[in-house]
Amino acid sequence: MYQAPRGTLDRLPEDQAYWNYVEKTAADVAALYGYSRLDTPVFEDSGLFIRSVGEGTDIVEKEMYTFNDLGGNSVTLRPEGTAPVCRAYVEHGMQNLTQPVKLYYLMSIYRYERPQAGRLREFHQFGFEAIGESSALLDAEVIDMSCRFYRELGLKDLKLLVNSIGCQDCRKEYLKALREYYKVHVDELCDDCKKRLEKNTLRVLDCKKPGCKPLADNAPKSTDHLCDDCKAHFEQLTARLDQLGLDYKIDHRLVRGLDYYTRTVYEVQPLIEGGQSTIGGGGRYDGLIEELGGKPTQAVGFATGLERVILNLKRAGINPPEDTRKKVFVIWFGDEALRKAGHIMDVLHENGISAITSYSGRSMKAQMRQANSNGANYVIIIGDTEVAENKYTFKDMENSSQETVTEEELLEKLR
Ligand SMILES: [Zn+2]
Ligand SMILES: [Zn+2]
Repeated sequence: MYQAPRGTLDRLPEDQAYWNYVEKTAADVAALYGYSRLDTPVFEDSGLFIRSVGEGTDIVEKEMYTFNDLGGNSVTLRPEGTAPVCRAYVEHGMQNLTQPVKLYYLMSIYRYERPQAGRLREFHQFGFEAIGESSALLDAEVIDMSCRFYRELGLKDLKLLVNSIGCQDCRKEYLKALREYYKVHVDELCDDCKKRLEKNTLRVLDCKKPGCKPLADNAPKSTDHLCDDCKAHFEQLTARLDQLGLDYKIDHRLVRGLDYYTRTVYEVQPLIEGGQSTIGGGGRYDGLIEELGGKPTQAVGFATGLERVILNLKRAGINPPEDTRKKVFVIWFGDEALRKAGHIMDVLHENGISAITSYSGRSMKAQMRQANSNGANYVIIIGDTEVAENKYTFKDMENSSQETVTEEELLEKLR
């Protein structure tokens, strides 16, 4: 038999309450901060991601679902959300709107990775981008909004890590210092980091391998190599985070995986659980839109993996709110009763009341069992007596009380 492809999951009915909960909370928080929803296609021109995420990154080199379509065009299933949003921003002339333009998305993401707990090949993200503004106060707002999302869900025990990796100018000096430092330690690095050192130097800092980690701890810090503007930007950011009362830690090993970040980078991680633990992160990407062919445009954004969020909700024992809609199950015996059941079903549906019945003519006991397994709050019973009297037996499943009512009285009760 066929199975769902490795690294993908069916989102089953019993999990949908979690998905509704996180997606509704995401939309509510987005609305609170003035963000509008944007949906982009599942696949894009491959060049978009090679250009934005960057050659030499793990994503572009090893993790993208890239293929030629039947027209011979190279397309890629989106491995992240920021580049598509920026592409749409430029394509639809949003630079002509009042800036910043604030957009959020709920989308599926595709990366060919080794599947493990909370890491899939198809996963889902809530992300938001504020485009067209350079103020560090906006960075702080985006961080605040990220933290509020987790707080609203009820997730505590999270830590917030922030860092500044500077702009294109001061980054050059910093990378020089970093390469200088690693030059004498090259033999101690893992094979991946040896390669990264040339192509993607910053990534050496967040390698989790035992040999690389202590080296990174003692490496030069980006915050010691910031130009005056970047330094002022970072100071304004941390001052605002203090004012917001957010508990954060400056982590100089935090660089984020993508090439396009500038200045602010940040991550949210659970306090427990080590290793692959980040549940969300983001930062500023002032050069990206220009790189994609737009005018120079500053921007900052965030994304969080919803499977990981739900995993953390379950670990913390947080249950999504239950569906409060009352459910009615209609039980009947005999052909006349079936016709009457059909009638009352139609009336209930017209009145917006959730109602189901069984069409297979089971016994009273079997129909009652079915009502229970469907989680019915009320049962309507129609037999010969009810048909003859043109009434209904109405049973409240919570207190087992039972009475005979007319159609009008029934609707009165259910409304
Ligand atoms: Zn700078
Ligand atoms: Zn390494």
